[in-house]
Amino acid sequence: ESPLASVPMAPKDPMFGLSAAFRADTDPKKVDLGVGAYRDDNAKPWVLSVVKKADEILRQTPDLNHEYLPIAGLNEYLAASQQLVFGKDSQILHNHRVATMQTISGTGALHLGARFLSKFFPESDAKRVHVSSPPYVNHLPILHDACLETAFYPYYTPTTKSLDCDALLATLHAIPEHSIVLLHACAHNPTGVDPTQSQWRQIASVMRERQHLPFFDSAYQGFASGDLDADAWAIRHFVSLDFPALLVAQSYAKNFGLYGERTGCLHVVAQDADLAARIKSQMEKLQRVNISTPPAYGARIASTVLSSPALFSEWQEDLRTMSGRIVEMRRALRALLEKGKGEEGKWKHLTEQTGMFCYTGLDPEQVRVLREKWHVYLTGDGRVSVSGLNWGNVRYVAEAFGAVEG
Ligand code: PLP
Repeated sequence: ESPLASVPMAPKDPMFGLSAAFRADTDPKKVDLGVGAYRDDNAKPWVLSVVKKADEILRQTPDLNHEYLPIAGLNEYLAASQQLVFGKDSQILHNHRVATMQTISGTGALHLGARFLSKFFPESDAKRVHVSSPPYVNHLPILHDACLETAFYPYYTPTTKSLDCDALLATLHAIPEHSIVLLHACAHNPTGVDPTQSQWRQIASVMRERQHLPFFDSAYQGFASGDLDADAWAIRHFVSLDFPALLVAQSYAKNFGLYGERTGCLHVVAQDADLAARIKSQMEKLQRVNISTPPAYGARIASTVLSSPALFSEWQEDLRTMSGRIVEMRRALRALLEKGKGEEGKWKHLTEQTGMFCYTGLDPEQVRVLREKWHVYLTGDGRVSVSGLNWGNVRYVAEAFGAVEG
């Protein structure tokens, strides 16, 4: 008998299962609102115009080869990524207080950060990562894989379809000092609900007072509002309060459309340059056993754009194209759902939420009917990927939502 005979079947990943069901559906009216990637108005993947240009430049670069990158990643990419997150004139960059590693996109950054904390965060009753309720689907599995414990902080309230800020603040007060708190920098996935700036100020102030460690997941910078600085506001506000330690997991999957190229960074902000150097040396050790060195192509594309003022401003244009189309679809769906029904404001959460995802408030039974009767696919929690909407299907989707809402 095989020594592996007792391996049980793992449950299918729900997201990938949903896309498989969508592909198998032969109805021409079918709509994919599960997809976690940007789609254009023809429901097709979109290669950013600036990425095409950077690709062309790379192709014409003589002597470009397939050698390994350094363990920490492409140097110019690391520096440009730091500036993008923390701002060009950031004092912590000037003082060399940030240890940065190139990672396998945002997932790899979260995982490296989790492994690092698992190894070096002091043993105490605070060694537990607090995540939003509901969490991003992969947060708990990643943290548990790194042997970290988790707990939830209240975030979304179904009754108002918005942030329960009082409950969140009360929890941040109540948990042990020096707790690790995982926060979405912007465009919270799955709910689309972000704190306002004044709520962020309160969250940051409680966390500073209680000496919690902020761990930001930044998967949508520039993609949420179309403005790279606005989407980094929360991170930079926390940095301005001078937390002794702060982590940022950064992904270029959505804002550059580099999904499959696995392009990201982990940044660890330390108290001084000496500690940052020690932290970096330890992260390089973790990187070496995990992936040895990161993949080159996506980092080359991103750093080509980030280091050229002309390409950078073209990228900002591309970001406005993507975020603008999403905002337009949120407005269109809301208007169609509310039109003629005297239900002004009933769907206001569609336009109040931000980023790729939207929590509609539809329940699992309504989601089932949408799939089986209307061929409209969304996750069981009622989350819609707004980028699956376009001018060709939004009326049909509104009709379907209206029908299941009764
Ligand atoms: N974090 C959040 C909140 C996300 O929504 C995603 C992707 O959907 C990720 C992290 C990780 O994405 P990737 O590993 O493709 O960068």
